[in-house]
Amino acid sequence: MDFDDTPDEAAWRAKVRSFIEEHRDQLGSRADQRGFDDTVSRQRQALMYDAGYVGVTWPVEAGGRGGTPMQQSIIDQEMARAGVPGLINLIGIGMCGPTVIYHGSDDQKERYLKRLLRADDIWCQLFSEPASGSDLAALRTKAVRDDEGNWRISGQKVWTTLAHLADYGILLTRTDPDVAKHRGLTMFVVDMKAPGVTVRPLRQMSGGSDFNEVFFDDVVIPDSERLGDVGDGWRTALTTLMSERMTLGGGGTSIGVSVERVAEHVAERIGELSEARQALARQDFGRAYVASLGIRYTGYRLLTAVSQGQLPGPEASAGKLAGTKAARDLADLAVRLLGDDAVYAGTGDGGVSWQDLQAVLPGMAIAGGTDEVLHNIIGERVLGLPPEPRADKDKTFRELAAAGA
Ligand SMILES: Cc1cc2nc3c(=O)[nH]c(=O)nc-3n(C[C@H](O)[C@H](O)[C@H](O)COP(=O)(O)OP(=O)(O)OC[C@H]3O[C@@H](n4cnc5c(N)ncnc54)[C@H](O)[C@@H]3O)c2cc1C
Repeated sequence: MDFDDTPDEAAWRAKVRSFIEEHRDQLGSRADQRGFDDTVSRQRQALMYDAGYVGVTWPVEAGGRGGTPMQQSIIDQEMARAGVPGLINLIGIGMCGPTVIYHGSDDQKERYLKRLLRADDIWCQLFSEPASGSDLAALRTKAVRDDEGNWRISGQKVWTTLAHLADYGILLTRTDPDVAKHRGLTMFVVDMKAPGVTVRPLRQMSGGSDFNEVFFDDVVIPDSERLGDVGDGWRTALTTLMSERMTLGGGGTSIGVSVERVAEHVAERIGELSEARQALARQDFGRAYVASLGIRYTGYRLLTAVSQGQLPGPEASAGKLAGTKAARDLADLAVRLLGDDAVYAGTGDGGVSWQDLQAVLPGMAIAGGTDEVLHNIIGERVLGLPPEPRADKDKTFRELAAAGA
Protein backbone atom coordinates (compact mmCIF):
# COMPACT_ATOMS: atom_id res chain seq x y z
CA MET A 1 0.00 0.00 0.00
CA ASP A 2 0.95 3.64 -0.37
CA PHE A 3 1.80 5.02 3.08
CA ASP A 4 1.35 8.67 2.17
CA ASP A 5 -2.02 10.36 2.61
CA THR A 6 -4.15 10.63 -0.52
CA PRO A 7 -5.20 14.24 -1.28
CA ASP A 8 -8.57 13.53 0.43
CA GLU A 9 -6.88 12.03 3.48
CA ALA A 10 -4.43 14.95 3.69
CA ALA A 11 -7.36 17.40 3.59
CA TRP A 12 -9.15 15.40 6.33
CA ARG A 13 -5.97 15.34 8.44
CA ALA A 14 -5.59 19.12 8.11
CA LYS A 15 -9.21 19.60 9.17
CA VAL A 16 -8.85 17.34 12.22
CA ARG A 17 -5.56 18.99 13.19
CA SER A 18 -6.96 22.48 13.03
CA PHE A 19 -10.04 21.43 15.05
CA ILE A 20 -7.75 20.05 17.76
CA GLU A 21 -5.60 23.20 17.76
CA GLU A 22 -8.66 25.43 17.96
CA HIS A 23 -10.16 23.50 20.90
CA ARG A 24 -6.92 22.68 22.73
CA ASP A 25 -8.17 23.94 26.11
CA GLN A 26 -11.49 22.08 26.05
CA LEU A 27 -9.95 18.85 24.78
CA GLY A 28 -7.33 18.88 27.54
CA SER A 29 -4.17 16.81 27.67
CA ARG A 30 -3.33 13.23 28.59
CA ALA A 31 -1.29 14.64 31.44
CA ASP A 32 -4.52 15.52 33.34
CA GLN A 33 -5.99 12.08 32.91
CA ARG A 34 -5.08 10.54 36.25
CA GLY A 35 -7.75 12.25 38.28
CA PHE A 36 -10.05 12.55 35.33
CA ASP A 37 -13.52 13.77 35.92
CA ASP A 38 -16.24 11.98 33.98
CA THR A 39 -18.30 15.15 33.50
CA VAL A 40 -15.36 16.79 31.72
CA SER A 41 -14.74 13.62 29.71
CA ARG A 42 -18.39 13.50 28.62
CA GLN A 43 -18.26 17.16 27.56
CA ARG A 44 -15.07 16.53 25.61
CA GLN A 45 -16.66 13.63 23.71
CA ALA A 46 -19.83 15.67 23.00
CA LEU A 47 -17.67 18.48 21.59
CA MET A 48 -15.92 16.04 19.27
CA TYR A 49 -19.19 14.36 18.25
CA ASP A 50 -20.89 17.67 17.45
CA ALA A 51 -17.91 18.54 15.23
CA GLY A 52 -18.27 15.20 13.38
CA TYR A 53 -15.24 13.37 14.81
CA VAL A 54 -16.89 10.54 16.79
CA GLY A 55 -18.50 7.48 15.21
CA VAL A 56 -16.95 8.36 11.87
CA THR A 57 -17.29 4.82 10.47
CA TRP A 58 -20.82 4.28 11.82
CA PRO A 59 -23.74 4.45 9.37
CA VAL A 60 -25.39 7.87 9.10
CA GLU A 61 -28.75 6.45 10.23
CA ALA A 62 -27.04 5.28 13.46
CA GLY A 63 -25.76 8.79 14.18
CA GLY A 64 -22.37 8.28 12.51
CA ARG A 65 -20.85 9.81 9.38
CA GLY A 66 -20.62 6.78 7.10
CA GLY A 67 -16.89 7.52 6.78
CA THR A 68 -13.88 5.25 6.28
CA PRO A 69 -11.64 3.38 8.75
CA MET A 70 -8.77 5.46 7.37
CA GLN A 71 -10.55 8.67 8.43
CA GLN A 72 -10.99 7.22 11.92
CA SER A 73 -7.36 6.17 11.99
CA ILE A 74 -6.30 9.72 11.07
CA ILE A 75 -8.37 11.10 13.97
CA ASP A 76 -6.71 8.61 16.35
CA GLN A 77 -3.26 9.54 15.05
CA GLU A 78 -3.89 13.26 15.38
CA MET A 79 -5.31 12.91 18.90
CA ALA A 80 -2.24 10.88 19.92
CA ARG A 81 0.11 13.38 18.27
CA ALA A 82 -1.50 16.28 20.15
CA GLY A 83 -1.63 14.36 23.46
CA VAL A 84 -5.43 14.62 23.62
CA PRO A 85 -7.01 12.05 25.98
CA GLY A 86 -8.95 9.14 24.47
CA LEU A 87 -12.76 9.14 24.49
CA ILE A 88 -14.49 8.04 27.68
CA ASN A 89 -17.13 5.94 25.93
CA LEU A 90 -14.70 3.72 24.07
CA ILE A 91 -16.40 0.49 25.15
CA GLY A 92 -19.74 1.91 24.04
CA ILE A 93 -18.38 2.97 20.66
CA GLY A 94 -16.19 -0.07 20.06
CA MET A 95 -18.35 -2.88 21.42
CA CYS A 96 -21.84 -2.02 22.70
CA GLY A 97 -22.91 0.33 19.90
CA PRO A 98 -22.04 -2.06 17.04
CA THR A 99 -24.01 -4.79 18.84
CA VAL A 100 -27.07 -2.52 19.05
CA ILE A 101 -26.62 -1.55 15.38
CA TYR A 102 -26.61 -5.19 14.22
CA HIS A 103 -29.08 -6.76 16.66
CA GLY A 104 -31.18 -3.96 18.20
CA SER A 105 -34.73 -2.94 17.27
CA ASP A 106 -35.36 0.37 15.48
CA ASP A 107 -36.66 1.76 18.75
CA GLN A 108 -33.46 0.80 20.62
CA LYS A 109 -31.29 2.31 17.89
CA GLU A 110 -33.29 5.53 18.02
CA ARG A 111 -33.12 5.79 21.81
CA TYR A 112 -29.51 4.78 22.38
CA LEU A 113 -27.05 5.31 19.58
CA LYS A 114 -26.70 9.06 19.20
CA ARG A 115 -26.64 9.56 22.98
CA LEU A 116 -23.89 6.91 23.20
CA LEU A 117 -21.76 8.68 20.58
CA ARG A 118 -22.13 12.02 22.41
CA ALA A 119 -21.36 10.33 25.77
CA ASP A 120 -24.73 11.56 27.06
CA ASP A 121 -24.89 7.93 28.21
CA ILE A 122 -21.88 5.81 29.10
CA TRP A 123 -21.98 2.09 28.36
CA CYS A 124 -20.29 -1.02 29.71
CA GLN A 125 -19.96 -4.65 28.63
CA LEU A 126 -21.22 -7.22 31.14
CA PHE A 127 -19.85 -10.56 29.91
CA SER A 128 -17.15 -11.97 32.26
CA GLU A 129 -18.08 -13.71 35.50
CA PRO A 130 -16.06 -15.17 38.38
CA ALA A 131 -16.18 -18.62 36.73
CA SER A 132 -16.30 -17.63 33.07
CA GLY A 133 -13.84 -15.44 31.24
CA SER A 134 -11.97 -17.21 28.46
CA ASP A 135 -14.72 -19.83 28.50
CA LEU A 136 -17.40 -17.16 28.17
CA ALA A 137 -20.17 -19.59 27.20
CA ALA A 138 -19.94 -21.15 30.69
CA LEU A 139 -21.59 -18.07 32.23
CA ARG A 140 -24.22 -18.52 34.93
CA THR A 141 -26.12 -15.23 35.26
CA LYS A 142 -29.74 -16.29 34.84
CA ALA A 143 -32.59 -14.59 32.97
CA VAL A 144 -36.04 -16.06 33.60
CA ARG A 145 -39.22 -14.85 31.92
CA ASP A 146 -42.03 -13.82 34.33
CA ASP A 147 -45.82 -13.87 33.80
CA GLU A 148 -45.83 -10.34 32.42
CA GLY A 149 -43.28 -11.22 29.74
CA ASN A 150 -40.43 -9.33 31.46
CA TRP A 151 -37.09 -10.96 32.25
CA ARG A 152 -35.77 -11.34 35.82
CA ILE A 153 -31.99 -11.35 36.14
CA SER A 154 -29.92 -12.87 38.98
CA GLY A 155 -26.18 -13.37 39.07
CA GLN A 156 -22.81 -11.68 39.11
CA LYS A 157 -20.44 -10.16 36.58
CA VAL A 158 -16.84 -9.09 37.21
CA TRP A 159 -14.06 -7.00 35.66
CA THR A 160 -16.71 -4.71 34.17
CA THR A 161 -14.80 -1.66 32.95
CA LEU A 162 -16.58 1.66 33.63
CA ALA A 163 -19.64 0.02 35.30
CA HIS A 164 -19.28 2.60 38.13
CA LEU A 165 -19.95 5.40 35.62
CA ALA A 166 -22.19 3.56 33.18
CA ASP A 167 -25.81 4.38 32.38
CA TYR A 168 -26.39 1.22 30.30
CA GLY A 169 -24.70 -2.09 29.65
CA ILE A 170 -24.98 -5.03 27.29
CA LEU A 171 -25.62 -8.08 29.43
CA LEU A 172 -25.10 -11.69 28.39
CA THR A 173 -27.29 -14.16 30.32
CA ARG A 174 -28.31 -17.81 30.37
CA THR A 175 -31.96 -18.31 29.45
CA ASP A 176 -31.90 -22.08 28.86
CA PRO A 177 -29.63 -24.44 30.84
CA ASP A 178 -31.01 -27.54 29.08
CA VAL A 179 -29.20 -27.07 25.79
CA ALA A 180 -25.47 -26.98 24.93
CA LYS A 181 -23.76 -24.07 26.68
CA HIS A 182 -23.38 -21.86 23.58
CA ARG A 183 -27.03 -22.28 22.67
CA GLY A 184 -28.93 -21.17 25.78
CA LEU A 185 -27.69 -17.56 25.96
CA THR A 186 -29.59 -14.31 25.39
CA MET A 187 -28.37 -10.70 25.41
CA PHE A 188 -30.11 -7.61 26.79
CA VAL A 189 -29.57 -3.91 27.29
CA VAL A 190 -29.65 -3.27 31.03
CA ASP A 191 -30.28 0.05 32.76
CA MET A 192 -27.39 0.27 35.22
CA LYS A 193 -29.48 2.44 37.57
CA ALA A 194 -32.34 -0.12 37.76
CA PRO A 195 -33.35 -1.44 41.21
CA GLY A 196 -31.33 -4.57 42.11
CA VAL A 197 -28.12 -3.56 40.25
CA THR A 198 -25.17 -3.13 42.65
CA VAL A 199 -21.76 -1.97 41.40
CA ARG A 200 -18.64 -2.49 43.54
CA PRO A 201 -15.36 -0.99 42.27
CA LEU A 202 -12.18 -3.13 42.32
CA ARG A 203 -8.72 -1.70 43.03
CA GLN A 204 -5.97 -2.55 40.52
CA MET A 205 -2.26 -2.98 41.16
CA SER A 206 -1.63 0.22 39.16
CA GLY A 207 -3.55 2.11 41.89
CA GLY A 208 -6.42 2.88 39.52
CA SER A 209 -9.97 1.61 39.83
CA ASP A 210 -11.40 1.24 36.34
CA PHE A 211 -13.35 -1.94 36.71
CA ASN A 212 -15.96 -3.44 38.98
CA GLU A 213 -17.98 -6.34 40.29
CA VAL A 214 -21.65 -6.03 39.33
CA PHE A 215 -24.42 -7.90 41.13
CA PHE A 216 -27.93 -8.50 39.73
CA ASP A 217 -30.52 -9.22 42.34
CA ASP A 218 -33.87 -9.98 40.65
CA VAL A 219 -33.44 -7.09 38.21
CA VAL A 220 -36.39 -6.63 35.84
CA ILE A 221 -35.66 -6.08 32.13
CA PRO A 222 -38.55 -5.61 29.67
CA ASP A 223 -38.52 -7.91 26.65
CA SER A 224 -38.20 -4.84 24.42
CA GLU A 225 -34.61 -4.51 25.74
CA ARG A 226 -33.57 -7.89 24.28
CA LEU A 227 -30.76 -7.75 21.69
CA GLY A 228 -31.29 -10.51 19.13
CA ASP A 229 -33.43 -13.61 19.51
CA VAL A 230 -33.94 -15.65 22.66
CA GLY A 231 -31.21 -18.33 22.71
CA ASP A 232 -29.19 -16.52 20.05
CA GLY A 233 -26.96 -14.64 22.50
CA TRP A 234 -23.77 -16.38 21.41
CA ARG A 235 -24.15 -15.06 17.86
CA THR A 236 -24.97 -11.61 19.25
CA ALA A 237 -21.90 -11.79 21.51
CA LEU A 238 -19.69 -12.69 18.54
CA THR A 239 -20.60 -9.32 16.99
CA THR A 240 -19.39 -7.65 20.18
CA LEU A 241 -16.21 -9.72 20.35
CA MET A 242 -15.37 -9.13 16.69
CA SER A 243 -15.74 -5.37 17.24
CA GLU A 244 -13.68 -5.63 20.44
CA ARG A 245 -10.89 -7.36 18.57
CA MET A 246 -10.81 -4.51 16.07
CA THR A 247 -10.89 -1.87 18.81
CA LEU A 248 -8.19 -3.42 20.99
CA GLY A 249 -5.80 -4.85 18.45
CA GLY A 250 -7.07 -4.84 14.93
CA GLY A 251 -6.99 -1.28 13.71
CA GLY A 252 -3.85 -0.71 15.77
CA THR A 253 -1.00 0.76 13.84
CA SER A 254 0.59 1.95 17.06
CA ILE A 255 1.40 0.01 20.23
CA GLY A 256 0.46 2.99 22.41
CA VAL A 257 3.98 3.33 23.85
CA SER A 258 6.44 5.84 22.47
CA VAL A 259 9.39 3.95 20.97
CA GLU A 260 11.11 7.31 20.41
CA ARG A 261 10.90 8.12 24.11
CA VAL A 262 12.51 4.79 25.03
CA ALA A 263 15.24 5.48 22.45
CA GLU A 264 15.94 8.78 24.27
CA HIS A 265 16.23 6.91 27.58
CA VAL A 266 18.59 4.37 26.02
CA ALA A 267 20.78 7.17 24.65
CA GLU A 268 20.80 9.08 27.96
CA ARG A 269 21.29 6.20 30.35
CA ILE A 270 23.13 3.41 28.62
CA GLY A 271 26.53 4.73 29.70
CA GLU A 272 25.55 4.13 33.35
CA LEU A 273 25.26 0.36 32.77
CA SER A 274 27.99 -2.26 32.83
CA GLU A 275 29.24 -3.35 29.40
CA ALA A 276 27.33 -6.63 29.53
CA ARG A 277 24.11 -4.85 30.46
CA GLN A 278 24.64 -2.27 27.73
CA ALA A 279 24.67 -5.06 25.14
CA LEU A 280 21.46 -6.52 26.59
CA ALA A 281 19.72 -3.13 26.63
CA ARG A 282 20.65 -2.56 22.96
CA GLN A 283 19.34 -5.98 21.99
CA ASP A 284 16.11 -5.51 23.95
CA PHE A 285 15.52 -2.13 22.36
CA GLY A 286 16.31 -3.41 18.86
CA ARG A 287 13.91 -6.33 19.27
CA ALA A 288 11.04 -4.14 20.54
CA TYR A 289 11.68 -1.52 17.84
CA VAL A 290 11.51 -4.12 15.06
CA ALA A 291 8.35 -5.59 16.61
CA SER A 292 6.72 -2.14 16.75
CA LEU A 293 7.45 -1.61 13.03
CA GLY A 294 6.03 -5.05 12.19
CA ILE A 295 2.89 -4.23 14.13
CA ARG A 296 2.50 -0.86 12.42
CA TYR A 297 2.72 -2.35 8.92
CA THR A 298 0.49 -5.33 9.78
CA GLY A 299 -2.01 -2.78 11.12
CA TYR A 300 -1.85 -0.86 7.83
CA ARG A 301 -2.50 -4.09 5.95
CA LEU A 302 -5.57 -4.76 8.06
CA LEU A 303 -6.80 -1.18 7.62
CA THR A 304 -6.46 -1.61 3.87
CA ALA A 305 -8.50 -4.84 3.97
CA VAL A 306 -11.21 -3.24 6.13
CA SER A 307 -11.36 -0.13 3.94
CA GLN A 308 -11.97 -2.49 0.97
CA GLY A 309 -14.99 -3.93 2.78
CA GLN A 310 -13.40 -7.13 4.15
CA LEU A 311 -14.07 -8.29 7.70
CA PRO A 312 -11.20 -8.35 10.22
CA GLY A 313 -9.69 -11.83 10.32
CA PRO A 314 -7.43 -13.63 12.79
CA GLU A 315 -4.65 -11.12 12.05
CA ALA A 316 -6.45 -8.81 14.49
CA SER A 317 -5.63 -11.36 17.21
CA ALA A 318 -1.98 -11.38 16.13
CA GLY A 319 -1.93 -7.56 16.26
CA LYS A 320 -3.21 -7.50 19.82
CA LEU A 321 -0.86 -10.27 20.94
CA ALA A 322 2.26 -8.75 19.40
CA GLY A 323 1.32 -5.19 20.36
CA THR A 324 0.85 -6.04 24.02
CA LYS A 325 4.17 -7.89 24.14
CA ALA A 326 6.14 -5.09 22.48
CA ALA A 327 4.53 -2.49 24.77
CA ARG A 328 5.37 -4.53 27.86
CA ASP A 329 8.96 -5.11 26.70
CA LEU A 330 9.47 -1.39 26.11
CA ALA A 331 7.98 -0.41 29.49
CA ASP A 332 10.14 -3.01 31.26
CA LEU A 333 13.25 -1.73 29.48
CA ALA A 334 12.46 1.89 30.37
CA VAL A 335 11.98 0.97 34.05
CA ARG A 336 15.27 -0.97 34.07
CA LEU A 337 17.12 1.97 32.50
CA LEU A 338 15.57 4.65 34.70
CA GLY A 339 15.63 2.82 38.04
CA ASP A 340 13.96 4.92 40.75
CA ASP A 341 13.35 7.75 38.29
CA ALA A 342 10.74 5.53 36.56
CA VAL A 343 8.33 6.48 39.36
CA TYR A 344 8.23 10.07 38.06
CA ALA A 345 9.52 10.07 34.48
CA GLY A 346 6.72 10.57 31.94
CA THR A 347 6.23 8.11 29.11
CA GLY A 348 6.06 10.88 26.54
CA ASP A 349 2.61 10.06 25.21
CA GLY A 350 0.58 10.75 28.29
CA GLY A 351 0.78 11.91 31.85
CA VAL A 352 1.51 8.48 33.25
CA SER A 353 4.93 7.48 34.53
CA TRP A 354 6.83 4.44 33.26
CA GLN A 355 6.17 2.68 36.53
CA ASP A 356 2.40 3.27 36.21
CA LEU A 357 2.46 2.04 32.64
CA GLN A 358 4.43 -1.06 33.60
CA ALA A 359 1.72 -1.87 36.16
CA VAL A 360 -1.16 -1.30 33.71
CA LEU A 361 0.14 -3.31 30.75
CA PRO A 362 -0.16 -6.86 32.15
CA GLY A 363 -3.94 -6.28 32.22
CA MET A 364 -3.85 -5.68 28.46
CA ALA A 365 -2.51 -9.23 28.03
CA ILE A 366 -5.75 -10.45 29.65
CA ALA A 367 -8.47 -8.02 28.54
CA GLY A 368 -10.34 -8.90 25.35
CA GLY A 369 -8.80 -12.38 25.10
CA THR A 370 -5.73 -13.56 27.02
CA ASP A 371 -2.41 -14.17 25.28
CA GLU A 372 -2.92 -17.95 25.62
CA VAL A 373 -6.38 -17.81 24.05
CA LEU A 374 -5.05 -15.67 21.19
CA HIS A 375 -2.26 -18.22 20.66
CA ASN A 376 -4.98 -20.89 20.38
CA ILE A 377 -6.89 -18.82 17.79
CA ILE A 378 -3.76 -18.26 15.73
CA GLY A 379 -2.79 -21.94 16.00
CA GLU A 380 -6.21 -23.18 14.91
CA ARG A 381 -7.42 -20.53 12.49
CA VAL A 382 -4.24 -19.19 10.93
CA LEU A 383 -1.86 -22.15 11.06
CA GLY A 384 -4.52 -24.87 10.73
CA LEU A 385 -3.23 -26.87 13.71
CA PRO A 386 -5.56 -29.48 15.23
CA PRO A 387 -8.19 -27.86 17.50
CA GLU A 388 -8.18 -28.25 21.27
CA PRO A 389 -10.20 -31.27 22.43
CA ARG A 390 -13.70 -30.03 23.44
CA ALA A 391 -15.16 -32.64 25.75
CA ASP A 392 -18.12 -30.41 26.64
CA LYS A 393 -19.48 -30.13 23.09
CA ASP A 394 -22.34 -32.61 23.39
CA LYS A 395 -23.42 -31.86 26.95
CA THR A 396 -26.10 -29.46 28.17
CA PHE A 397 -25.09 -26.58 30.41
CA ARG A 398 -27.02 -28.19 33.30
CA GLU A 399 -24.99 -31.41 32.96
CA LEU A 400 -21.72 -29.46 32.84
CA ALA A 401 -22.65 -27.37 35.88
CA ALA A 402 -23.62 -30.52 37.83
CA ALA A 403 -20.23 -32.04 36.95
CA GLY A 404 -18.58 -28.86 38.31
CA ALA A 405 -17.21 -27.72 34.93
C1 LIG B 1 -8.15 -4.47 32.00
C2 LIG B 1 -9.29 -5.43 31.87
C3 LIG B 1 -10.54 -4.96 31.49
C4 LIG B 1 -11.62 -5.85 31.36
N1 LIG B 1 -12.85 -5.34 31.03
C5 LIG B 1 -13.90 -6.18 30.91
C6 LIG B 1 -15.22 -5.68 30.61
O1 LIG B 1 -15.42 -4.48 30.46
N2 LIG B 1 -16.24 -6.55 30.51
C7 LIG B 1 -16.07 -7.91 30.68
O2 LIG B 1 -17.04 -8.65 30.54
N3 LIG B 1 -14.84 -8.43 31.00
C8 LIG B 1 -13.77 -7.58 31.12
N4 LIG B 1 -12.52 -8.09 31.44
C9 LIG B 1 -12.39 -9.51 31.72
C10 LIG B 1 -11.66 -10.28 30.65
O3 LIG B 1 -12.47 -10.44 29.50
C11 LIG B 1 -11.28 -11.64 31.26
O4 LIG B 1 -10.38 -11.38 32.33
C12 LIG B 1 -10.60 -12.53 30.25
O5 LIG B 1 -11.53 -12.96 29.29
C13 LIG B 1 -9.98 -13.78 30.93
O6 LIG B 1 -10.89 -14.42 31.74
P1 LIG B 1 -10.56 -14.78 33.26
O7 LIG B 1 -10.03 -13.55 33.94
O8 LIG B 1 -11.77 -15.43 33.83
O9 LIG B 1 -9.37 -15.81 33.20
P2 LIG B 1 -9.48 -17.41 32.84
O10 LIG B 1 -10.30 -17.57 31.62
O11 LIG B 1 -9.93 -18.09 34.10
O12 LIG B 1 -8.00 -17.72 32.54
C14 LIG B 1 -7.03 -18.02 33.56
C15 LIG B 1 -5.73 -18.44 32.85
O13 LIG B 1 -5.96 -19.65 32.09
C16 LIG B 1 -5.61 -19.46 30.73
N5 LIG B 1 -6.52 -20.18 29.86
C17 LIG B 1 -7.88 -20.17 29.90
N6 LIG B 1 -8.40 -20.92 28.91
C18 LIG B 1 -7.34 -21.43 28.21
C19 LIG B 1 -7.23 -22.29 27.08
N7 LIG B 1 -8.29 -22.77 26.46
N8 LIG B 1 -5.97 -22.58 26.64
C20 LIG B 1 -4.87 -22.09 27.26
N9 LIG B 1 -4.91 -21.29 28.36
C21 LIG B 1 -6.14 -20.96 28.82
C22 LIG B 1 -5.73 -17.96 30.51
O14 LIG B 1 -4.94 -17.52 29.42
C23 LIG B 1 -5.25 -17.40 31.84
O15 LIG B 1 -3.85 -17.33 31.88
C24 LIG B 1 -11.44 -7.23 31.59
C25 LIG B 1 -10.17 -7.70 31.97
C26 LIG B 1 -9.11 -6.82 32.12
C27 LIG B 1 -7.78 -7.36 32.54
